[in-house]
Amino acid sequence: VPESSSSLRTYAKDKLSGQMVDLFEACQQQSSDLARKEMCRTQLQQDIQRVYAVGRLYLTGSSMNGLGCRSSDADLCLVLKGNKRQDPIHVLSVLQRLFKTLSYIERTQLIRAKVPILRFREKGSDLEFDLNVNNTVGIRNTFLLRSYAYADLRIRPMILVVKKWARHNQINDASKGTLSSYTLVLMVLHYLQTLKEPVLPSLQRDYPECFNPLMDIDIVPEGPKHIPSYFSRNQSSLGELLLGFLKYYATYFRWDKQVISIREARALPKSNSQEWRNKFICVEEPFERNNVARAVHEKIKFEAIKAQFVESSRILQQRKDLNSILPVRTII
Ligand code: ATP
Ligand code: MG
Repeated sequence: VPESSSSLRTYAKDKLSGQMVDLFEACQQQSSDLARKEMCRTQLQQDIQRVYAVGRLYLTGSSMNGLGCRSSDADLCLVLKGNKRQDPIHVLSVLQRLFKTLSYIERTQLIRAKVPILRFREKGSDLEFDLNVNNTVGIRNTFLLRSYAYADLRIRPMILVVKKWARHNQINDASKGTLSSYTLVLMVLHYLQTLKEPVLPSLQRDYPECFNPLMDIDIVPEGPKHIPSYFSRNQSSLGELLLGFLKYYATYFRWDKQVISIREARALPKSNSQEWRNKFICVEEPFERNNVARAVHEKIKFEAIKAQFVESSRILQQRKDLNSILPVRTII
């Protein structure tokens, strides 16, 4: 394959696609950002081991999955082996007390959500951390998402632009009843898997041994490094994919009848089970198979999300200019 045809600019010959690549290049996480997060992780793990000797700290989320921005927070999972039944709230309060004595940490805050987290900042910087205890599914899905992120050159810019678009339009905040970044990512992957000429396969189906849900958690981060990138016959530009994504959720996707499953690379019919009944948006967690979009529980927020897809797809279809749905200069 000649160098030029394997580069991102191959998919960016039109203006809209070029704008997407520009935004991606300006905002994607830099290796220096990751190095900083990794340094904090190492120091924190050392300090935590004074209290929990077996504690191991893993960076997860967009810091590790290839879908991070310079401004992304750092998600951390503390794995306490042999202590599976430890109450996470208890562990996090112990850590909160410890963190108050650490000179490089400030503003610790315990958040009692379904998955409780300790939120804090590196002192004097705007680097924010969200730490959970033993929520190991986050480690598994981080490395699944990373494999998708690198399966095709278009995935990372596409997802970064969608996240920025959703954030700008105030539909990317699970704590306010809209979509988490994780849900948005799965929605993009689903669209790319279900095109007539798919851009992505189901990696769990094609490489079951790499994504075995019972794999020892220590080796998960090493597991999927060797997955060859996927060759798709779909050569659509980034702009075409963005337009197609907005249009898919504005027009074709049946929110009331379908469950998004990237595990199966298709939309499943909504069953009457507890997990999906009376839910506005159904997106299956690829390992645990529960609903990652459960934060969307108010009709008014659901309607706002759908309306945003309809409105943005209409405007972008007309203008073919990223600035019409996302003022790029205010973001870079
Ligand atoms: P951002 O760049 O906006 O921080 P992110 O990719 O880190 O985005 P988040 O929604 O902050 O996404 O989630 C961080 C990580 O937590 C995800 O990558 C995933 O591993 C895990 N996670 C989040 N929500 C769920 C969920 N409902 N079920 C399982 N894991 C989840
Ligand atoms: Mg994050």
